[in-house]
Amino acid sequence: MSDIIYSPGPRPKMSIRKKFLISFLSAAIIPLIILAIANTIIFKTQAKKNALSKVRITLQGAERIYYTQANELKNAFLISNYNLYFTKSLIGKNRQFLDSLVYSYKSAFNYADLICVLSRYKTVLASSSGKTDTTLILNGLINKSFNRDIPIVKTVYIKNYTQRKLGLNYNNTGSSINNLFLVTVVPVTYNAKVVGGIVGFINLYEDSYIPRTIYNDYHMNPAIFSSIFQTQTAISTMNIPGNVFGVGSKLPFSIYKKISSGKDYINKMNYDGKNVFVAFHPIKDINNKVIGSLGVLISNHEYVNLLKKTAIYSILIIIFGLIISLIITYFASKDTLNPIYMTLDAIKKFSSGELDTRLIIKTNDEFEKIGEGFTEMAVTVHDREERMLKYNEFSDFLTKSLDFDYILSGTLDKLEELTNSVSGIIYEAVEITNKKDIQNDIDIKETGLINKNIENDRLNGYGDLFENNLNKVYDNVNDYNYNDNYNIFVKNKYKLVPKKHYGIRKFVAKEFSLDDGIVGECITKKKTIWFHDIPENAILLKDQLLSDRANGKTIDYGFCEVFPKDIVWFPLYIESSSKISIPLGVIMLSSLKGFKKEDIVFLEHAAKELSITLDNARMHQKLNKLSITDELTGLYNRRYLNEFLERELNLAKRHNTQLSLLMMDIDNFKHVNDFYGHQLGDEVLRTVGQIIKDSIRSTDFGARYGGEEFTIVLPYTDFGGSFEVAKKIKEELSKYQFKGLVENVTISIGIVNYPDCEEFNSGENINDGSNTGKINTIDNLLKIADDFLYEAKSNGKNMIVGNNKGDKIIFK
Ligand code: GH3
Ligand code: MG
Ligand code: MG
Repeated sequence: MSDIIYSPGPRPKMSIRKKFLISFLSAAIIPLIILAIANTIIFKTQAKKNALSKVRITLQGAERIYYTQANELKNAFLISNYNLYFTKSLIGKNRQFLDSLVYSYKSAFNYADLICVLSRYKTVLASSSGKTDTTLILNGLINKSFNRDIPIVKTVYIKNYTQRKLGLNYNNTGSSINNLFLVTVVPVTYNAKVVGGIVGFINLYEDSYIPRTIYNDYHMNPAIFSSIFQTQTAISTMNIPGNVFGVGSKLPFSIYKKISSGKDYINKMNYDGKNVFVAFHPIKDINNKVIGSLGVLISNHEYVNLLKKTAIYSILIIIFGLIISLIITYFASKDTLNPIYMTLDAIKKFSSGELDTRLIIKTNDEFEKIGEGFTEMAVTVHDREERMLKYNEFSDFLTKSLDFDYILSGTLDKLEELTNSVSGIIYEAVEITNKKDIQNDIDIKETGLINKNIENDRLNGYGDLFENNLNKVYDNVNDYNYNDNYNIFVKNKYKLVPKKHYGIRKFVAKEFSLDDGIVGECITKKKTIWFHDIPENAILLKDQLLSDRANGKTIDYGFCEVFPKDIVWFPLYIESSSKISIPLGVIMLSSLKGFKKEDIVFLEHAAKELSITLDNARMHQKLNKLSITDELTGLYNRRYLNEFLERELNLAKRHNTQLSLLMMDIDNFKHVNDFYGHQLGDEVLRTVGQIIKDSIRSTDFGARYGGEEFTIVLPYTDFGGSFEVAKKIKEELSKYQFKGLVENVTISIGIVNYPDCEEFNSGENINDGSNTGKINTIDNLLKIADDFLYEAKSNGKNMIVGNNKGDKIIFK
């Protein structure tokens, strides 16, 4: 017994289905969550990146928009530059004309807060505000433009004082947040000399154009900041929800610092507790001094929306993943759990006795192997049980009879039924007493099967042939259960006579001597010989014999109708107490499919049991014979005579048939004994017994009645028939010459016949209880016969006395 144990310590009590679900779901969910988190992070980063690049792009656009109106002014002013009348009016200081020009500009570009014309000395000659004669410096902006003769658009910080002088006068608050202007200066030339210029001012404080255009174009919140002291203050914004910049709101110091150094600031920042993405571009004056900034932002609101979307994606991914993993779980469980439960089911069924339970799993994995293993196991157990049943059936059969011949031939029928053999022979080991016995023992007609006169010398023993031609097979076979300690039988005392066969070509079933072929070897060595899985080269046997056939010899080669895969011989023998084994026979079986080792073990057991049964049957037969026969003459004894006579008389009465009985007594036997001795007397008795046997049919019954008296019962025989028998015996004996006996021996015989005797009145002491006076008991039958015998004796011996239908017959 081998235990295969797996015991990995304490485990929570949980079905495989639950364990499987938990492990599978956790294995699926953990990566999913990680994936979702990674996804969120990636999205978050991406969203930030997107937001930042969006504000950067928007800032570039905002810069363009920032200068749009100022550039428009520049273009318009440049065109006037080519107006000769205007140039001349400027040189000639034609204020009236210049005024009209300024007004027409102002009405055309009403977003400009102030348009004025300067003389070459930068003095205001005409102004849309009406204030003139101020000399414009604007931090050197005018100088730079006039000196280099280039139009300039620039943001300028204009002090309140200057504003007032120019009539801009917007700054009622007096605050410096109203001091940033976009200024466009276009010099006017004449003969390549700057003769003056046109200047336009756009106040950035609460400018409506720039923030609105930026917002319209980019959907982003814009703001223009002006530098004041150590900070920047929003001077122009778009009043929309989510915009953290209101006019007057201040830039955080960190941004202010960055911008003051002249660099862009693009980042995510917390503004008044709100997350925003911002981009700032410093606004510089003509001297590259940072005087303000242009900013755009995306509100947290928008960013959160983006994040929400990301989160939704992640949740969707998790749900999708879960669905997928559930589907996988379903299929995996189908392929894993179902086979487990099926296996449990099969085990349950199998252990409840359904041995033909089979487990077929087609998952193409280890479970399929488990199923195959189970089925293999079930088949083995089933086979074993079947073998047990067969064995029991065989044992039953063996207990049914004690008739040697019946058991021997019945065994082969039974084995044909119980094994998957295609052919079989059963041989009986018959004792050889003398040559005459051999002839007598083998009664071909009775077995009806055996042809012992095989002409072909070539096939002198199938076993020989087999060994000679099939050495390889023999070498290769699994030499099963070889028993070295065997007693050699007295070989020439026995021969193996086939009693019955099936699936065999007749001539193969021939007689063997004990040193002849495999059959002989099997019994003399008392071992099972098993040719297992007879290999391909066994075909050589066929070829050899086929070629012999081709040479003109008619040789049949078949062991059986088809060439078997396995052939096995079992010895039938009994170990006697004198340590000499007694051979009983051999069984040969062959199989197309081959035998399993278990089959062989079963058959060996069967052969052993059969041997014991056969031995018993033989003993029984012997004992039986002893109890009913007379040892000296071989005739039946008186006890058995009574039994037989009773039965036959009843049959005769019932069926109204005749029956005759002969009572005989040797004449003067006392004399033989006294004169020649008992030995010769016995010889006379034996001879008389033999003469009686030779004179009657097998259905007749000869018995020694006692001493030198003999009885013969002749069923279905009338007086005439019985008289003939009596006559034959009388004559045979009287002419028989006994060695050492001078005179011939004679015999006296009394005959009685049923129902003739019923008519015959013996006269005395008839009492059968029926008071009819009829003679119908064996005692009376015997008595009448004895009376006739007595009559013969008294009338001179060596005669027959009887009564045929009332007529007394006396034959001398
Ligand atoms: P009768 O012609 O009148 O029959 O004369 P008889 O000599 O045969 O007389 P009886 O029947 O009285 O003799 C029987 C003798 O047979 C007695 C006995 O010695 C002898 N006898 C009986 N059984 C055996 C036996 O088994 N062997 C031998 N040798 N003799 C036997
Ligand atoms: Mg006598
Ligand atoms: Mg006598």
